[in-house]
Amino acid sequence: MIEERRRSVAVRVGDVTVGGDAPIIVQSMTNTDTANVEATAQQVSALAGAGSELVRITVDREEAAKAVPYIRDRLAVMGVSVPLVGDFHYIGHKLLEEFPACAEALDKYRINPGNVGFREKRDRQFGAMIEMAMRYDKPVRIGVNWGSLDQELLADLMDKNASIAVPKSAAVVMRDALVASAINSAQRAEEIGLTRDRIILSCKVSEVQNLIAVYRDLSTAGDYALHLGLTEAGMGSKGIVASTAAMAVLLQEGIGDTIRVSLTPEPGGDRTQEVIVAQEMLQTMGLRSFAPLVTACPGCGRTTSTVFQELAQTIQVFLRDRMPLWRERYPEAANLNIAVMGCIVNGPGESRFADVGISLPGTGELPSAPVFVDGEKHVTLRGENIAEEFQNIVEKYVVDRFGKSDIASSETSAHTPNAAQ
Ligand code: SF4
Repeated sequence: MIEERRRSVAVRVGDVTVGGDAPIIVQSMTNTDTANVEATAQQVSALAGAGSELVRITVDREEAAKAVPYIRDRLAVMGVSVPLVGDFHYIGHKLLEEFPACAEALDKYRINPGNVGFREKRDRQFGAMIEMAMRYDKPVRIGVNWGSLDQELLADLMDKNASIAVPKSAAVVMRDALVASAINSAQRAEEIGLTRDRIILSCKVSEVQNLIAVYRDLSTAGDYALHLGLTEAGMGSKGIVASTAAMAVLLQEGIGDTIRVSLTPEPGGDRTQEVIVAQEMLQTMGLRSFAPLVTACPGCGRTTSTVFQELAQTIQVFLRDRMPLWRERYPEAANLNIAVMGCIVNGPGESRFADVGISLPGTGELPSAPVFVDGEKHVTLRGENIAEEFQNIVEKYVVDRFGKSDIASSETSAHTPNAAQ
C-alpha cells in the first residue's frame, strides 16, 4: 500500500499549488534557446497541452532574460497560462536585477546553490536572488544537483568525516553534502526573510539508489515541499526505467510533491514524452488520473498480423487527443480503463474487467471482434473499420456515462438564483 503522503508546506506557483494537500504536480523543461521567443513559446505550449502543470525555461544570458516577458505575452495570445519557472545558474542575481520584466514574468526562480558563486560572493549572490524573489513575491526552488554540488561544503564534510573514529564512505558523505546544501540554503533564505511557503527543495542525482537514499534523508530534514527527479536519466527506455524505478519507490513512501522525468529526447523526438511518462507513472501507481489507461496484451504467436498493435496504438493516440476536451467536459473520463486484447485466450476476460474492451481475432479465429461495455457483451465488430467504430463506441460511452452529470449540474445551476449573472 502507498504510504500516507509526507506533510509539507504548500507553495503557490502562479495558480498552481505544490505540496500540502495538493496533488503531485507534473512539470517539464524546454530545450529550446529561450532567446528564441517563438520556438520557446511553441514548446511551452506543447508541454502544457500534454499536461505539464509547470514549465521551466533556461535563463542563461541577457538575450534569454530579455525574451522571457515576450514569451509570456506570446503564450497569453495562444491562450496558455501555465506557470513559467526560470532556471538560473552563475549570473541569476545579475539577470534578475537588470531585467525586471523577466523577474516579473516568471512564476518561480530555480536557484542552484552550487552555481551561485564562490566564497563570500556565494552568500552575497544567493542572498541577492532571495531578495529578488521577495521583491517580486515569487517562490524559489533551491535545486541542488550532484554534478554541481558546492565543493567547499563537500570538502568541509569530507575533512570532518576523516577525523571521526569510524568514517562514513565517500558516497554517504556526498549524499550528506547534497542534503546539507539544500537545507542550509533554505535556512539561509528564511533568515533573509523568504517564508517557507515560498521554498521548494530538490536534490537530484543520476543514480537510482543514491536518489532514493538522498530523498529519504531530505524528507526527514524539514517540511519543505519537495521536487523529485532523477537528473540525467538518459534516453529512451533506459531513462524511463531509471526514473520510474527511483521515483516509484519514493512516491510509494509518500515522498515528493512535484516530479519531472528528465529524458534525453531521441534526435527529432517529441519533448512532450517526458510529460506523458510522468503522468503514466503517477496514474499506474494510482496517485493521479490524467487520461484513460489502455490495457493491452503483449501479443504472441496467436497475433501474427499487425492489426492488434495498430489498433492498440490508434486507441492510445485517440484517447490522448480527446482528453483535453474531455478534461473540460467529462473530467472523470481520465479514470477509465480501456482494454485492447489480441485473441480469445485472455481477450474476453480482460475486456469484461475494463470499462470498454475489445477482443480482436487471433490467428485462425473468425474475423470478428466482440466489444464489451461495463462487463457485458455490447456488439461484435467486423471488417475494415474496426478502429473507427471502436473509437465511436468509446466516445459515446464517455458522453453517456459522464455527460449526464454535466447536464444535471447545468440544470441545477440554471435553477439557482444568480446562475445567469
Ligand atoms: S491475449 Fe491472446 S494474443 Fe494476447 S498475449 Fe494472450 S494469448 Fe497472446
